[in-house]
Amino acid sequence: MGDRNFRSILTGSFSTPCADNPTVAMIEAAYRHAGLDARYINCDVKPEHLAQAVAGAVAMEWIGFNCSLPHKVAVIEHLDELADSARIIGAVNCVAIRDGRLVGNNTDGKGFLASLKGVTDPAGKKVLLLGAGGVARAIAVELGLAGAAHLTIVNREVAKAENVAALVRDNTPCAATAMAWDGPVSVPGDVDILINATSIGLGDAEALPPVELETLRKGLVVADVIPNPPMTHLLRAAKARDCTVLDGLGMLVNQGVIGVELWLGRTLDSGVMQRTLQEIFEVSA
Ligand code: NDP
Repeated sequence: MGDRNFRSILTGSFSTPCADNPTVAMIEAAYRHAGLDARYINCDVKPEHLAQAVAGAVAMEWIGFNCSLPHKVAVIEHLDELADSARIIGAVNCVAIRDGRLVGNNTDGKGFLASLKGVTDPAGKKVLLLGAGGVARAIAVELGLAGAAHLTIVNREVAKAENVAALVRDNTPCAATAMAWDGPVSVPGDVDILINATSIGLGDAEALPPVELETLRKGLVVADVIPNPPMTHLLRAAKARDCTVLDGLGMLVNQGVIGVELWLGRTLDSGVMQRTLQEIFEVSA
């Protein structure tokens, strides 16, 4: 009786809306697989309740939480400390709580980078990045910190691309330029990695970012951030042209792995997380 413990380790997520977010299933499957008595509670938190939710997590001695839209910037004022890349990016999606102190991290770019490193090391590489939203910004900063040689950021609203390019130039050794996206973009012959970091393809397997598909060549790495459906039109076209392709599911899985490492200092099984998401998205393994 004496050594039984009915207290679970608590983690979770604050966002709204939250009902479509499958992260809870992925992380709890990995907790169970590791034999950990830990929970991940998916909470719907409205913007006006964020401060109370964060205080509640501290009060209940949670060890950490993710925060997704719309809280990634707003949460910062409630934290004690920021990790380097989260400070540069200006957004936090993963918070670790240790001795009541809240430390903010950004795992969007780190999850992507971990996935990318499975196929290529970005150090010294030339990258063409489509999009300049929150995820593109996080990926651009992490690529710069990882030693990429040059980034071209393409966006319809070019001022947003210039903003991300300036962020990379000012905070990392990587050269970065912006380009307006006003027609199908050609991938220059010296580019090593093409990344779709727009929302084009989410929930629509036929949607295709405006790219000259003839410029996708053998050996080019083509990555997409879209987790669902993972085999986007862009990736299917790239695969047909003998490119190395990387889907957004791996990025999501790696975000889960990195988050739990930050909270528990343990690396959980990424295969269990991947299979759980694949079942949810009804993808054949
Ligand atoms: P944002 O809304 O911040 O940015 C969206 C970007 O997509 C902008 O650059 C926008 O361009 C561009 N865009 C949207 N529609 C078009 C279009 N028709 N033509 C050209 N550009 C377009 O979104 P986030 O950065 O937060 O998220 C982007 C995607 O990343 C999400 O859809 C999500 O699926 C995915 N994601 C994946 C994760 C993973 O782990 N795999 C994690 C988090 C997100 P403009 O500025 O010109 O409007």
